[in-house]
Amino acid sequence: MKGQETRDFQSEVKQLLHLMIHSLYSNKEIFLRELISNASDATDKLRFLALSNSKLYENDSELHVRISINKDNRTIKIDDNGIGMSRQEVIDNIGTIAKSGTKLFLESIKANKSNDKLIGQFGVGFYSAFIVSDKVSLRTRTAGTSLDEGVFWESTGEGEYTIADVKKADRGTEITLHIRKGEDDFLDAWNIRRIVSKYSDHIALPVEFEVQDKDNNSTKWEQINKAQALWIRNKSEITNQDYNEFYKHITHDFQDPLIWSHNRVEGIQEYTSLLYIPSHAPFDMWNRDHKRGIKLYIQRVFIMDNAKQFIPNYLRFVRGLIDSSNLPLNVSREILQDSKITKNLCTALTKRVLQMLESLSKNDCEKYKVFWKEFGLVLKEGPAEDNINQKTIAKLLRFTSTKNNTSEQTISLEDYVSRMVEGQEKIYFITADSYSAAKSSPNLELFDKKNIEVLLLSDRIDEWMMSYLNDFNGKSFQSVSKIDDSLNKLLDKEITEQRKIEKELEPFIKRIQKSLNNRVKEVRLTHRLTNTPAVVTTASNDMTTQMAKLLSAAGKELPDVKYIFEINPDHSLVKFISDIKDETNFNEWIELLLEQSLLVECGTLEDPNKFILRMNKLLMS
Ligand code: ADP
Repeated sequence: MKGQETRDFQSEVKQLLHLMIHSLYSNKEIFLRELISNASDATDKLRFLALSNSKLYENDSELHVRISINKDNRTIKIDDNGIGMSRQEVIDNIGTIAKSGTKLFLESIKANKSNDKLIGQFGVGFYSAFIVSDKVSLRTRTAGTSLDEGVFWESTGEGEYTIADVKKADRGTEITLHIRKGEDDFLDAWNIRRIVSKYSDHIALPVEFEVQDKDNNSTKWEQINKAQALWIRNKSEITNQDYNEFYKHITHDFQDPLIWSHNRVEGIQEYTSLLYIPSHAPFDMWNRDHKRGIKLYIQRVFIMDNAKQFIPNYLRFVRGLIDSSNLPLNVSREILQDSKITKNLCTALTKRVLQMLESLSKNDCEKYKVFWKEFGLVLKEGPAEDNINQKTIAKLLRFTSTKNNTSEQTISLEDYVSRMVEGQEKIYFITADSYSAAKSSPNLELFDKKNIEVLLLSDRIDEWMMSYLNDFNGKSFQSVSKIDDSLNKLLDKEITEQRKIEKELEPFIKRIQKSLNNRVKEVRLTHRLTNTPAVVTTASNDMTTQMAKLLSAAGKELPDVKYIFEINPDHSLVKFISDIKDETNFNEWIELLLEQSLLVECGTLEDPNKFILRMNKLLMS
């Protein structure tokens, strides 16, 4: 053949194909859904481009995908008259995967037995053909090109493929699957009809099946799906299964979504939206090249995929579509970016998603737990990003706390406020590197004693999120590692007694100050601690340790954090130190006390060895 060459698949594709061929799929028939979805996308693209260039139709504007079976050759053919592909596009689209992190992800699937679920996160698309085939051939030609610009592609899925130039009369893509031995079910006409109506009833593209015409001993094409876009139909006619299948069709996800919201809005802004929340996060959600956004249709015509202008970043897990009647058909990404209509639609869809989540949180605790586990970290970006909806977002947040014996985040701020004790004015929280570090912080001692709940935050984003959350139901947030007057009211000791002790120990405090010179911002007594001799805290207007860590990880230059060194006068170690007469010995003990406090607060010390040497010396003295 002209221009024939054999090329290697990219190593990620090889890995994926190996998985496709060798893993035991419980649901093999989905290959047909994936290929019909691709055909539907290809015809959508053509219809859109033909809006400004009707020549692309090549005198055939009836879009369809056709399926035929040849039992003798053991093949199924899936033939669409969509946009087609050029030689380079075939190489780029079918020979390579451009998503970053793919390699690592595929390794993790290989190591995992239940790879059905995992592969669903990836979206295998075209490659699913190899689940049932031992050879796949493809002929394709881009709409509007000359007949000899066709491309032939073929592979057995084992590392390489052949590509060549061919003549192709009709535009579009024709895929021939050579069905593997033992998969004969897929050569059965009724089975194929069943699969198509199960998965593809709700896509707008007609799926036609080749049948015998008994009258004149020839074949004809019979439409076997409803071919009516799902979102246009009346809600009352659509079953849950229809919604689920449509979701899988547009996302290539193998699992059902968690929840959806389908709405038609009339008036000045006319649109239909169908928004889904998936039941699991895609493998590349945190990668820079993660494709987010929804499908944009204008007056039923597909315009673009991954339109991110309609959904804010902190809701980037939302999938689905919007079909607008107000946007112009010739819209571009640039116009969308600046359009007032887009902004209004984004505001409306954001509200819709938040409502959907609110109702899920109220009506289905278990599903909400799944949502939070998968996407909670993304939603936590909300308070900073969306000031207008901050109150609603705050209601959706989930935490763990000192009242929860697990790191699982299940407590809402409403739960917390309903459990506040008498006289408690604020919502207390602590941020730390890990759940266990937060849970064992000495700063919680007073709260435990007073039976006051403290939210334990240990996700990296938490400190940043809390700096944007102003209040909840009129109650402000207070970090327990920052000095705050509200705490004094909770103390057992009367203020006069506190002052008395402070007066008595003034020389001791001065001595510590002298010993540490200017290394801490202030030394003072605290009455909040029980089991811990000392802690370091930050002043209410200073940067917290967690924020400093966050900024430093982001490569920002930091102002020097100077701590307040707080001493517990009731602790026996403190009493012991205050009695030490020898200045050198006293200084050593104070250093050790400070090092201990810094270790608890920061999780690390600048010079751990110095600390250990000092401790050992004091232990042996
Ligand atoms: P996805 O559809 O998720 O992008 P696939 O592996 O199924 O992944 O397909 C990769 C790309 O190949 C598609 O994005 C599309 O550009 C192209 N492609 C696949 N099938 C067709 C088709 N029938 N017609 C035109 N292009 C196609």
